[in-house]
Amino acid sequence: MAKKTEKEIKNIWTYDPAPESSDHIQLKDKYDLYIDGKWVKPESGKYYDTSNPASTKKIASIAYGNDKDVDKAVRAARKAYKNVWSKMEPSERAKYIFRIARIMQERARELAVIECMDSGKVIREARDVDVPLACNHFFYYAGWADKLEYAFPNQKVESIGVAGQIIPWNFPLLMAAWKIAPALAAGNTVVLKPAETTPLTALKLAEIIHEAGLPAGVVNVVTGFGDTGAAIVNHHDIDKIAFTGSTGVGKLIQRAVAGTNKRVTLELGGKSANIILDDAPLDQAVEGIVNGIFFNQGHVCCAGSRLFVQENVADRVIQMLKARMETLVVGDPLDKNTDIGAINSKEQLATINKYIEIGKKEGADMYQSHINLPKSGYYCAPTLFTNMSQSSVIVKEEIFGPVLTIQTFRTIDEVIQKANNTEYGLAAGVWTSNGARIFNLTTKLKAGVVWANTYNRFDPVSPFGGYKESGFGREGGLHGLKSYVKLS
Ligand code: ADP
Repeated sequence: MAKKTEKEIKNIWTYDPAPESSDHIQLKDKYDLYIDGKWVKPESGKYYDTSNPASTKKIASIAYGNDKDVDKAVRAARKAYKNVWSKMEPSERAKYIFRIARIMQERARELAVIECMDSGKVIREARDVDVPLACNHFFYYAGWADKLEYAFPNQKVESIGVAGQIIPWNFPLLMAAWKIAPALAAGNTVVLKPAETTPLTALKLAEIIHEAGLPAGVVNVVTGFGDTGAAIVNHHDIDKIAFTGSTGVGKLIQRAVAGTNKRVTLELGGKSANIILDDAPLDQAVEGIVNGIFFNQGHVCCAGSRLFVQENVADRVIQMLKARMETLVVGDPLDKNTDIGAINSKEQLATINKYIEIGKKEGADMYQSHINLPKSGYYCAPTLFTNMSQSSVIVKEEIFGPVLTIQTFRTIDEVIQKANNTEYGLAAGVWTSNGARIFNLTTKLKAGVVWANTYNRFDPVSPFGGYKESGFGREGGLHGLKSYVKLS
C-alpha cells in the first residue's frame, strides 16, 4: 500500500468541533483571600488579573496577598490547630475530608472546566485525570485519618502543626489535593498558596471546604506571587513547608529554612528519560511517547522529555512518531477532541520558544507538526529534535513544553549511563516486552518513579517524588502521609 502523505493523514483525522459547555460554571469577578473561614480583602488592597491562556482574556481579579495576610493566615491556622483540629477525634476529621471529596465529585464538571480555562490544559485531561485524581486523594487520605497507628505500627504518631504549601500551575487542583489531603488527615492545618497564573480551582476548593463545614482556619488560601510564597516560607510559626515548583525556587527555599526547625519537602524539576528497547510493542510505545511529552503541552514535571531509542528500531520509531504528531489536534482546550491545549502563560511560551531557538542554533535537526496554530492565545506545535549530543542545552535543561529530544543507543549499559547523566531524577519510562530487562533497568535508573510500558500514570496509593535536583520527600501513598507526621 502506498504511503499516505501528511495531508492525507491529516484529512483522516479531522474532527468537527466538540466544545464542552461552560455555562454551568460559577465564577465571581473578584476573589478575596480565604482566611479563618472567611473571604477577606488583601491588606494592600491590590488585585491582579488571572486570564485564559487560550484566549488571553481576563477571567477574574485575584487578591494579591502580602506578608501581613500570610501572618493572619498562619495565626488562624495555628489557632485552629491548637484549639480544634489536632484535638478532634480522628474519625471526625475523616468525615470532613470525605465530605470535601464528595462535594468535589459533585462539582467535578465545573472544576474541570475552570481548570481548563485558567491553565490552558485540555478538558479531556482535566476531566479524566486531574479532577478524579484530586477527589481520590481526599478519599484515600480520609481513609487513613483514624488509622494512623496502623499506617506507622509500633510508633507514636503525632501531627506536626501548621503546614505552608506552595504549588505550581501545571496541575493546580491536583497539587492542592496532594498537599492538603494528607496534611489534614494527619491532624495538621494549612496555609496554601496557589500559583499566580492558576488560582481559580484552589479558590473553588476553598469554597468547597467552606461548604463541607471545616472549622475556621483549618485550611487557608492566600493567593499572590513569589513574594507571597516567600512570606509563607519565612514565617516564624510555620512547622512544615511543602513546595512543588522550579528547582531554582526550591534552592531558595532550602536556603531560607536552613537552621530553622521547619520540615521541608521539595518536588522540583525533571528531565525524564523515556527508553524504547528494540523488543518494545512499538505502537504502544509511540503512544507512550506522545502521552509522556506532548499531551498537557509538556507541562508535566515528570514529562518524558528525553527519548532514548535503541538504534536498530530508531528510524522506524521516529517515522511512526512523526506520523502520529501530524494527527495531534492543537487548539481550544475546552474542545473534547483537542490533544494539546494552550501554553500556560506568555512567559512560558517565550521560554519554550527560546529553547527551540537554542536547539536550532546548536545544530540539532528539528521537526514540528504541520499544524495551523490558533491565531489568538499561547500555543506551541509539538516539536522534536534529533542529532544532538548529551551536552546540548536542550538535552540538559528542563523546557516544560511540548519539545522532545531523541537520542539513540546500542546497549542497555549505554542507555542507563545516558539516562542517568542528568542533574535531575524524577521519573523514567521503559518500553520492552522482556520482564527481565524491565527489572534490570528499573533498578539501575536513578529516578523516583520508573514506569514500565506506560507513562504518566498516577494513583493516590503510589508515592511520587525525586532524587538529586528533582527534590526530596514523597507525595502520595503512605510515604506522602509520613511527611505530615512526627514519629517516635
Ligand atoms: P514554575 O517555574 O513552575 O512557575 P516556580 O517555582 O516559579 O515554578 O513557582 C511555583 C510556585 O512557587 C508558585 O506558586 C510561585 O508563586 C511560588 N514562588 C515563586 N517564587 C517563590 C519564592 N521565592 N518563595 C516561595 N514561593 C515562590
